[in-house]
Amino acid sequence: MKNIPKELKITLEKDIPIDIGKIVKTEKSVDGSIKYLFEFKGGHTVEAVLLLMKEEEKNDEGNITQGAQYTFCVSSQVGCKVGCSFCLTAKGGFTRDLSAGEIVAQVSYLKKLNNIDEKKSVNIVYMGMGEPLDNYDNLVKAIRIISDEDGLAISTRRQTISTSGISSKIEKLGEENLGVQLAISLHAVDDELRSELIPMNKAYNIQSIIDAVKKFPIDTRKKVMFEYLVIKDKNDDISSANQLIKILDGIMAKVNLIYFNPYPGTPYERPSRNAMVKFKEQLIKKGVLCTIRESKGLDISAACGQLKEQTDANT
Ligand code: SAH
Ligand code: SF4
Repeated sequence: MKNIPKELKITLEKDIPIDIGKIVKTEKSVDGSIKYLFEFKGGHTVEAVLLLMKEEEKNDEGNITQGAQYTFCVSSQVGCKVGCSFCLTAKGGFTRDLSAGEIVAQVSYLKKLNNIDEKKSVNIVYMGMGEPLDNYDNLVKAIRIISDEDGLAISTRRQTISTSGISSKIEKLGEENLGVQLAISLHAVDDELRSELIPMNKAYNIQSIIDAVKKFPIDTRKKVMFEYLVIKDKNDDISSANQLIKILDGIMAKVNLIYFNPYPGTPYERPSRNAMVKFKEQLIKKGVLCTIRESKGLDISAACGQLKEQTDANT
Protein backbone atom coordinates (compact mmCIF):
# COMPACT_ATOMS: atom_id res chain seq x y z
CA MET A 1 0.00 0.00 0.00
CA LYS A 2 1.54 3.22 -1.20
CA ASN A 3 -1.24 5.55 -0.13
CA ILE A 4 -0.68 5.53 3.62
CA PRO A 5 1.46 7.97 5.58
CA LYS A 6 5.00 6.98 6.48
CA GLU A 7 4.38 7.18 10.25
CA LEU A 8 1.42 4.84 9.95
CA LYS A 9 3.57 2.40 8.01
CA ILE A 10 6.13 2.40 10.80
CA THR A 11 3.42 1.92 13.44
CA LEU A 12 1.84 -0.92 11.49
CA GLU A 13 5.16 -2.62 10.99
CA LYS A 14 5.93 -2.36 14.69
CA ASP A 15 2.54 -3.20 16.20
CA ILE A 16 0.82 -5.38 13.64
CA PRO A 17 3.47 -7.63 12.12
CA ILE A 18 2.30 -9.75 9.22
CA ASP A 19 5.50 -11.77 8.91
CA ILE A 20 4.37 -14.05 11.70
CA GLY A 21 6.98 -16.77 11.78
CA LYS A 22 8.39 -19.06 9.14
CA ILE A 23 8.86 -22.76 8.57
CA VAL A 24 12.48 -23.83 8.98
CA LYS A 25 12.15 -27.58 8.59
CA THR A 26 9.70 -30.06 7.09
CA GLU A 27 9.66 -33.82 7.44
CA LYS A 28 7.30 -36.07 5.55
CA SER A 29 6.28 -39.52 6.74
CA VAL A 30 5.55 -42.44 4.46
CA ASP A 31 2.01 -42.49 5.87
CA GLY A 32 1.35 -38.96 4.61
CA SER A 33 1.85 -37.11 7.90
CA ILE A 34 4.02 -34.01 7.71
CA LYS A 35 5.86 -32.37 10.58
CA TYR A 36 6.71 -28.69 10.41
CA LEU A 37 9.17 -26.82 12.54
CA PHE A 38 8.05 -23.21 12.95
CA GLU A 39 10.36 -20.41 13.96
CA PHE A 40 8.69 -17.51 15.72
CA LYS A 41 9.86 -14.21 17.19
CA GLY A 42 13.14 -14.50 19.09
CA GLY A 43 14.21 -17.52 17.03
CA HIS A 44 12.00 -19.80 19.15
CA THR A 45 10.87 -22.99 17.51
CA VAL A 46 7.81 -25.23 17.94
CA GLU A 47 6.35 -28.10 16.00
CA ALA A 48 3.03 -28.58 14.28
CA VAL A 49 2.02 -31.79 12.53
CA LEU A 50 -0.43 -32.50 9.76
CA LEU A 51 -1.88 -35.96 10.17
CA LEU A 52 -3.54 -37.54 7.19
CA MET A 53 -6.41 -39.41 8.85
CA LYS A 54 -8.06 -40.62 5.66
CA GLU A 55 -6.83 -40.49 2.12
CA GLU A 56 -8.86 -39.03 -0.70
CA GLU A 57 -11.18 -41.59 -2.32
CA LYS A 58 -11.87 -41.67 -6.05
CA ASN A 59 -14.31 -43.68 -8.16
CA ASP A 60 -13.41 -45.61 -11.34
CA GLU A 61 -13.78 -42.45 -13.43
CA GLY A 62 -11.18 -40.74 -11.26
CA ASN A 63 -13.65 -38.36 -9.64
CA ILE A 64 -13.22 -37.61 -5.96
CA THR A 65 -16.00 -39.25 -3.97
CA GLN A 66 -14.67 -38.47 -0.52
CA GLY A 67 -12.14 -35.78 0.31
CA ALA A 68 -9.10 -36.45 2.48
CA GLN A 69 -9.46 -35.91 6.22
CA TYR A 70 -6.82 -34.08 8.18
CA THR A 71 -6.00 -33.45 11.82
CA PHE A 72 -3.61 -30.66 12.73
CA CYS A 73 -1.62 -31.05 15.92
CA VAL A 74 -0.70 -27.59 17.15
CA SER A 75 1.66 -26.21 19.82
CA SER A 76 0.63 -23.67 22.46
CA GLN A 77 3.94 -22.80 24.18
CA VAL A 78 7.67 -22.88 23.57
CA GLY A 79 8.57 -25.56 26.11
CA CYS A 80 6.36 -26.34 29.09
CA LYS A 81 6.27 -25.55 32.81
CA VAL A 82 4.44 -28.67 33.94
CA GLY A 83 7.56 -30.83 33.92
CA CYS A 84 6.12 -34.32 33.37
CA SER A 85 8.76 -36.95 34.06
CA PHE A 86 8.03 -38.91 30.87
CA CYS A 87 7.91 -35.97 28.45
CA LEU A 88 10.74 -34.69 26.29
CA THR A 89 9.26 -31.22 25.95
CA ALA A 90 9.56 -30.87 29.73
CA LYS A 91 13.30 -31.55 29.59
CA GLY A 92 13.92 -28.30 27.73
CA GLY A 93 12.11 -26.24 30.37
CA PHE A 94 9.82 -23.34 29.59
CA THR A 95 10.72 -20.47 27.26
CA ARG A 96 7.54 -18.53 26.56
CA ASP A 97 3.86 -18.58 25.71
CA LEU A 98 2.89 -18.46 22.05
CA SER A 99 0.74 -15.48 21.09
CA ALA A 100 -2.77 -16.06 19.74
CA GLY A 101 -1.41 -15.09 16.31
CA GLU A 102 1.33 -17.70 16.50
CA ILE A 103 -1.22 -20.40 17.36
CA VAL A 104 -3.53 -19.34 14.51
CA ALA A 105 -0.55 -19.10 12.13
CA GLN A 106 0.23 -22.81 12.57
CA VAL A 107 -3.25 -23.69 11.36
CA SER A 108 -3.40 -21.27 8.46
CA TYR A 109 0.12 -22.17 7.23
CA LEU A 110 -0.67 -25.90 7.30
CA LYS A 111 -3.83 -25.31 5.29
CA LYS A 112 -2.14 -23.10 2.72
CA LEU A 113 0.98 -25.22 2.31
CA ASN A 114 -1.08 -28.31 1.63
CA ASN A 115 -3.53 -26.58 -0.73
CA ILE A 116 -6.42 -27.47 1.52
CA ASP A 117 -9.48 -25.58 0.37
CA GLU A 118 -10.28 -22.58 2.54
CA LYS A 119 -13.77 -23.91 3.14
CA LYS A 120 -12.65 -27.45 3.95
CA SER A 121 -12.87 -28.22 7.62
CA VAL A 122 -10.06 -29.95 9.47
CA ASN A 123 -9.74 -31.20 13.04
CA ILE A 124 -7.39 -29.40 15.39
CA VAL A 125 -5.83 -30.91 18.48
CA TYR A 126 -3.89 -28.72 20.90
CA MET A 127 -1.51 -31.55 21.68
CA GLY A 128 1.79 -30.22 20.44
CA MET A 129 4.36 -28.61 22.67
CA GLY A 130 3.20 -26.90 25.83
CA GLU A 131 0.26 -26.96 28.22
CA PRO A 132 -2.59 -25.12 26.45
CA LEU A 133 -4.46 -24.18 29.65
CA ASP A 134 -1.28 -22.59 31.04
CA ASN A 135 -1.55 -20.12 28.15
CA TYR A 136 -5.26 -19.68 28.69
CA ASP A 137 -6.00 -16.18 27.33
CA ASN A 138 -4.00 -16.58 24.13
CA LEU A 139 -5.44 -20.04 23.54
CA VAL A 140 -9.05 -18.90 23.92
CA LYS A 141 -8.37 -15.91 21.68
CA ALA A 142 -6.84 -18.22 19.05
CA ILE A 143 -9.81 -20.61 19.25
CA ARG A 144 -12.22 -17.71 18.75
CA ILE A 145 -10.29 -16.49 15.69
CA ILE A 146 -9.97 -19.99 14.23
CA SER A 147 -13.69 -20.67 14.67
CA ASP A 148 -14.99 -17.26 13.60
CA GLU A 149 -16.78 -17.14 10.23
CA ASP A 150 -14.50 -14.23 9.29
CA GLY A 151 -11.47 -16.07 10.63
CA LEU A 152 -10.69 -19.64 9.60
CA ALA A 153 -14.29 -20.86 10.13
CA ILE A 154 -13.27 -24.13 11.76
CA SER A 155 -15.97 -25.04 14.27
CA THR A 156 -15.01 -25.25 17.94
CA ARG A 157 -16.52 -28.76 17.91
CA ARG A 158 -13.60 -29.79 15.72
CA GLN A 159 -11.05 -28.38 18.17
CA THR A 160 -9.76 -30.49 21.06
CA ILE A 161 -7.76 -29.15 23.98
CA SER A 162 -5.46 -31.68 25.61
CA THR A 163 -4.54 -30.81 29.18
CA SER A 164 -2.44 -32.35 31.89
CA GLY A 165 -5.26 -31.35 34.23
CA ILE A 166 -5.23 -27.78 35.60
CA SER A 167 -8.61 -28.26 37.29
CA SER A 168 -9.29 -24.56 37.93
CA LYS A 169 -8.68 -23.75 34.27
CA ILE A 170 -10.87 -26.65 33.12
CA GLU A 171 -13.69 -25.11 35.16
CA LYS A 172 -13.01 -21.65 33.72
CA LEU A 173 -12.99 -23.07 30.20
CA GLY A 174 -16.27 -24.84 30.92
CA GLU A 175 -17.87 -21.55 31.97
CA GLU A 176 -16.68 -20.00 28.71
CA ASN A 177 -18.91 -22.52 26.90
CA LEU A 178 -16.93 -22.40 23.67
CA GLY A 179 -18.08 -25.80 22.45
CA VAL A 180 -14.56 -27.21 22.33
CA GLN A 181 -13.76 -30.84 23.04
CA LEU A 182 -11.71 -31.83 26.03
CA ALA A 183 -8.95 -34.41 26.37
CA ILE A 184 -7.52 -35.13 29.82
CA SER A 185 -4.03 -36.58 30.13
CA LEU A 186 -4.81 -38.83 33.09
CA HIS A 187 -2.05 -41.45 32.80
CA ALA A 188 -2.46 -42.84 36.33
CA VAL A 189 -5.28 -44.00 38.60
CA ASP A 190 -3.68 -43.20 41.96
CA ASP A 191 -2.34 -39.86 43.12
CA GLU A 192 1.04 -41.25 44.11
CA LEU A 193 1.98 -42.45 40.65
CA ARG A 194 0.28 -39.49 38.98
CA SER A 195 2.35 -37.08 41.08
CA GLU A 196 5.50 -38.91 40.03
CA LEU A 197 4.52 -38.57 36.36
CA ILE A 198 2.90 -35.12 36.51
CA PRO A 199 4.25 -33.11 39.49
CA MET A 200 1.33 -30.67 39.21
CA ASN A 201 -0.93 -33.46 40.47
CA LYS A 202 0.02 -32.44 43.99
CA ALA A 203 -1.91 -29.21 43.45
CA TYR A 204 -4.61 -30.64 41.16
CA ASN A 205 -5.24 -34.24 42.09
CA ILE A 206 -7.31 -36.85 40.27
CA GLN A 207 -10.51 -36.09 42.19
CA SER A 208 -10.27 -32.35 41.45
CA ILE A 209 -9.93 -33.11 37.74
CA ILE A 210 -12.89 -35.49 37.75
CA ASP A 211 -14.99 -32.85 39.57
CA ALA A 212 -14.03 -30.23 36.98
CA VAL A 213 -14.82 -32.59 34.09
CA LYS A 214 -18.24 -33.37 35.54
CA LYS A 215 -19.08 -29.65 35.40
CA PHE A 216 -17.78 -29.23 31.85
CA PRO A 217 -20.48 -28.64 29.19
CA ILE A 218 -19.99 -31.59 26.89
CA ASP A 219 -21.75 -31.88 23.57
CA THR A 220 -24.25 -34.71 24.16
CA ARG A 221 -23.09 -36.44 20.98
CA LYS A 222 -19.49 -36.35 22.11
CA LYS A 223 -17.37 -37.75 24.91
CA VAL A 224 -14.55 -36.49 27.06
CA MET A 225 -11.34 -38.10 25.98
CA PHE A 226 -9.09 -39.54 28.65
CA GLU A 227 -5.56 -40.13 27.53
CA TYR A 228 -3.78 -42.87 29.37
CA LEU A 229 -0.08 -43.16 28.70
CA VAL A 230 0.78 -46.79 29.28
CA ILE A 231 4.20 -47.46 30.84
CA LYS A 232 5.53 -50.96 31.30
CA ASP A 233 5.18 -52.27 34.88
CA LYS A 234 3.95 -48.89 36.11
CA ASN A 235 0.31 -48.63 35.11
CA ASP A 236 -0.28 -51.43 32.60
CA ASP A 237 -1.93 -53.99 34.91
CA ILE A 238 -5.55 -55.09 35.08
CA SER A 239 -6.11 -53.65 38.57
CA SER A 240 -5.23 -50.21 37.13
CA ALA A 241 -7.78 -50.83 34.39
CA ASN A 242 -10.42 -51.68 37.03
CA GLN A 243 -9.56 -48.57 39.03
CA LEU A 244 -9.83 -46.47 35.87
CA ILE A 245 -13.32 -47.84 35.26
CA LYS A 246 -14.30 -46.76 38.80
CA ILE A 247 -12.85 -43.26 38.37
CA LEU A 248 -14.73 -42.72 35.12
CA ASP A 249 -18.06 -43.85 36.53
CA GLY A 250 -20.75 -41.30 35.64
CA ILE A 251 -18.70 -39.59 32.89
CA MET A 252 -19.35 -39.89 29.14
CA ALA A 253 -15.76 -40.89 28.57
CA LYS A 254 -13.62 -42.41 25.90
CA VAL A 255 -10.20 -43.74 26.81
CA ASN A 256 -7.26 -43.52 24.46
CA LEU A 257 -4.40 -45.79 25.40
CA ILE A 258 -1.04 -44.40 24.30
CA TYR A 259 2.12 -46.46 24.11
CA PHE A 260 4.89 -44.75 26.06
CA ASN A 261 7.37 -43.66 23.43
CA PRO A 262 10.88 -44.14 24.87
CA TYR A 263 13.86 -41.88 24.22
CA PRO A 264 17.50 -42.07 25.39
CA GLY A 265 17.90 -41.52 29.12
CA THR A 266 14.32 -42.21 30.20
CA PRO A 267 13.78 -44.78 32.98
CA TYR A 268 10.37 -45.72 31.55
CA GLU A 269 9.68 -48.50 29.07
CA ARG A 270 7.21 -49.12 26.29
CA PRO A 271 4.50 -51.61 27.30
CA SER A 272 3.94 -54.88 25.46
CA ARG A 273 1.22 -55.09 22.87
CA ASN A 274 -0.33 -57.89 24.91
CA ALA A 275 -0.64 -55.67 28.00
CA MET A 276 -2.24 -52.91 25.90
CA VAL A 277 -4.79 -55.25 24.36
CA LYS A 278 -5.70 -56.82 27.71
CA PHE A 279 -6.10 -53.39 29.30
CA LYS A 280 -8.34 -52.30 26.45
CA GLU A 281 -10.43 -55.46 26.55
CA GLN A 282 -11.03 -55.07 30.28
CA LEU A 283 -12.38 -51.54 29.76
CA ILE A 284 -14.58 -52.58 26.88
CA LYS A 285 -15.90 -55.56 28.84
CA LYS A 286 -17.07 -53.14 31.53
CA GLY A 287 -18.69 -50.81 29.00
CA VAL A 288 -16.00 -48.11 28.76
CA LEU A 289 -15.17 -47.01 25.22
CA CYS A 290 -11.48 -47.50 24.53
CA THR A 291 -9.06 -47.36 21.64
CA ILE A 292 -5.33 -47.93 21.34
CA ARG A 293 -3.68 -44.99 19.68
CA GLU A 294 -1.67 -46.08 16.70
CA SER A 295 1.43 -44.15 15.83
CA LYS A 296 1.52 -42.05 12.76
CA GLY A 297 4.64 -40.50 11.33
CA LEU A 298 6.84 -42.91 13.25
CA ASP A 299 9.53 -42.62 10.62
CA ILE A 300 9.86 -38.86 11.02
CA SER A 301 11.91 -37.87 14.01
CA ALA A 302 9.91 -35.85 16.51
CA ALA A 303 12.05 -33.47 18.50
CA CYS A 304 9.58 -33.35 21.37
CA GLY A 305 9.21 -37.12 21.40
CA GLN A 306 5.46 -37.07 21.58
CA LEU A 307 4.13 -35.73 18.34
CA LYS A 308 4.66 -39.18 16.94
CA GLU A 309 1.75 -40.58 18.84
CA GLN A 310 -1.04 -38.24 17.98
CA THR A 311 -3.67 -40.12 16.12
CA ASP A 312 -7.06 -41.40 16.89
CA ALA A 313 -6.79 -44.45 14.66
CA ASN A 314 -8.63 -47.32 16.20
CA THR A 315 -7.35 -50.80 16.66
N1 SAH B 1 0.39 -30.53 27.67
C1 SAH B 1 -0.75 -31.16 27.15
C2 SAH B 1 -0.73 -31.31 25.64
C3 SAH B 1 0.58 -31.66 25.01
S1 SAH B 1 1.27 -33.22 25.39
C4 SAH B 1 -0.94 -32.53 27.82
O1 SAH B 1 -0.06 -32.97 28.56
O2 SAH B 1 -2.02 -33.09 27.64
C5 SAH B 1 0.30 -34.25 24.34
C6 SAH B 1 0.27 -35.71 24.74
O3 SAH B 1 1.55 -36.33 24.49
C7 SAH B 1 -0.05 -35.94 26.21
O4 SAH B 1 -1.11 -36.83 26.39
C8 SAH B 1 1.26 -36.48 26.72
O5 SAH B 1 1.06 -37.27 27.83
C9 SAH B 1 1.80 -37.24 25.54
N2 SAH B 1 3.21 -37.59 25.67
C10 SAH B 1 4.21 -36.87 26.24
N3 SAH B 1 5.39 -37.54 26.23
C11 SAH B 1 5.12 -38.74 25.64
C12 SAH B 1 5.93 -39.88 25.34
N4 SAH B 1 7.22 -39.93 25.63
N5 SAH B 1 5.32 -40.94 24.75
C13 SAH B 1 4.00 -40.89 24.43
N6 SAH B 1 3.20 -39.83 24.67
C14 SAH B 1 3.75 -38.77 25.28
FE1 SF4 C 1 3.89 -30.29 29.36
FE2 SF4 C 1 2.09 -32.01 28.32
FE3 SF4 C 1 4.77 -32.54 28.26
FE4 SF4 C 1 3.47 -32.61 30.58
S1 SF4 C 1 3.10 -33.94 28.79
S2 SF4 C 1 5.44 -31.62 30.22
S3 SF4 C 1 1.99 -30.98 30.32
S4 SF4 C 1 3.70 -30.89 27.19
